[in-house]
Amino acid sequence: MFDAIIFDCDGVLVDSEIVGLEDTAAFMRSKGFAWQAVDLVQLFTGLRDDVFAARLAKEYALILGRPPTEDEATELFATMIENRRRNRHMLQAVPGTKEMVIALEALPVARAVASSTRAQYLEDKLSRFDLLQHFAPHAYSAELVAAGKPAPDIFLYTAAKIGIAPAKCLVIEDSANGVRAGVSAGMTVWGFTGGGHCFDGHGDRLSEAGAARIVEDHGTLADQMAEALAG
Ligand SMILES: [Mg+2]
Repeated sequence: MFDAIIFDCDGVLVDSEIVGLEDTAAFMRSKGFAWQAVDLVQLFTGLRDDVFAARLAKEYALILGRPPTEDEATELFATMIENRRRNRHMLQAVPGTKEMVIALEALPVARAVASSTRAQYLEDKLSRFDLLQHFAPHAYSAELVAAGKPAPDIFLYTAAKIGIAPAKCLVIEDSANGVRAGVSAGMTVWGFTGGGHCFDGHGDRLSEAGAARIVEDHGTLADQMAEALAG
């Protein structure tokens, strides 16, 4: 059924999307945006920095009637990075990730990571939780491709690197933007809701974006991958 499984990193393997999220939502409220953490998740998760900036400018225009000034955009980026940095001691792997990855190694399937994160951060995050060795050298940053998610580029690039046709790839994604990217690449996508940022209704939004099924935790994911490959 599948010859490869391609994982997103943030919010799937590493529970990074929740880190600093409340602080950033509070900052945006101070700027006149009636946003909660859940709104930030819906609008911005899974995006490369440039795609994020473009979407933020669009939201600014909708809500404040004008795009952000360069200083405002810079301040927001700096604040988000600082919020993550200040809370980085809270960063953990998504529960059950290591066990799932080890279970996956027993299956006849190629493994890779395709992430919106910059290459250096991607390697740091995977190494920190002893995950990189399970994927190397197939852990790829969207820095390597023309367009970030929700464009399909990083998934197509990854499929080419591992030498598997897109139609034979299964993608595991936690963000609607990432789900759209995988579907656009012609891959089957399962939505994953085991991350700390997956609030009520998150699975429904991944289904709406095109996820073929929703998986709530890594134990279930390991079982369902084994079943899919056996069937
Ligand atoms: Mg993600």
